[in-house]
Amino acid sequence: MNKITPQPGIMDIALYQGGQSHVAGVEHVIKLSSNENPFGPSPKAIEAVRNSAETLHRYPSTDHASLRAAVGERHGLEPARIICGVGSDEVLQFIAQAYAGPGDEVIYTEHGFSMYPIIARMAGATPVMVAERERHVDVDNILAAVNGQTRIVFVTNPGNPTSTMIPEAELVRLAEALPPTCLMVIDGAYAEFVDGFDGGASLVDRFENVIMTRTFSKVYGLGGMRVGWGYAAQSIIDVLNRVRQPFNLSLTALAAAEAAVKDVEFLSFCQAENARLRVWLSEELAKIGVPSDASCTNFILARFADQAEAEACDDYLKTKGLIVRRVAGYNLPNALRITVGDEESCRRVVAAITAFKGGAA
Ligand SMILES: *Cc1c(COP(=O)(O)O)cnc(C)c1O
Repeated sequence: MNKITPQPGIMDIALYQGGQSHVAGVEHVIKLSSNENPFGPSPKAIEAVRNSAETLHRYPSTDHASLRAAVGERHGLEPARIICGVGSDEVLQFIAQAYAGPGDEVIYTEHGFSMYPIIARMAGATPVMVAERERHVDVDNILAAVNGQTRIVFVTNPGNPTSTMIPEAELVRLAEALPPTCLMVIDGAYAEFVDGFDGGASLVDRFENVIMTRTFSKVYGLGGMRVGWGYAAQSIIDVLNRVRQPFNLSLTALAAAEAAVKDVEFLSFCQAENARLRVWLSEELAKIGVPSDASCTNFILARFADQAEAEACDDYLKTKGLIVRRVAGYNLPNALRITVGDEESCRRVVAAITAFKGGAA
């Protein structure tokens, strides 16, 4: 039969569901559904974007040397072992494309980022989901799922949408136990929200098969620019660069990210505000019977009595112009993920959930 047919697995890909940004009939909304920085991008990144306009007739750098140098300097890493992508999503895609294919298995965890099974399938590989334990990654469950076909294990640290951390000792135990033929990817999209956490860089230096990915989309407030990066052994970076298009990052994106990573003052401000407000938000909601795990990220995972209550609360918040994220698709039907906004947004969330719960608002 002559019929145009996609590669096996492609039609099994469920389209990624982004955070909602509009509510019908509500004009001014506060979007707390995509873990964006409530303070926007660094003013220096905005200026760099403006300045880039005059050279847009030029192709951008193919090796991203200037951005890699800035990232390396900021984090104390070797620039040669850094690769930049169109968001960290693209770096994750390079990893799957280069290291997994038909017949191979790619492990991700129960509440893990929904891009992992998507990129596994894009590469023709089979995603394998492993159970977590009480919203924490369980290393023993991962190891029990590893077999001769396993090529990649994706973990997020701290986790999204759980907001919890994998303890350092557990990460080391996982890295030590994985066969050398299996890559371990530590997705550090929220690493900047954990004081003193290196995102897994020291593990990359210790284990040949460990890769760290990072992003400019969260604390740096550049989700719209699409810039991320990865750090790994030189041999792995050399492989990943072969599946990277030479001009994957625009000149504007490169300029914005470089300015952002150098603006330590703005970064510190965002980190401090987030650390303060996530505790406040979590404590205020706990007082009215909506608990959450101590957050290591820029969001909290608020738990309700059951799925019906979580959905009713989400509907109520929408009527107040507050958009949060349902996470039933992440096997967390009783919960809502709420990005930590600025102080006014946090106060509005608490007031609205208090009113929903029947208290005085
Ligand atoms: C937001 C997020 C990313 C970042 O994706 P980008 O492509 O860099 O915007 C990666 N992993 C997780 C778990 C995230 O939540």
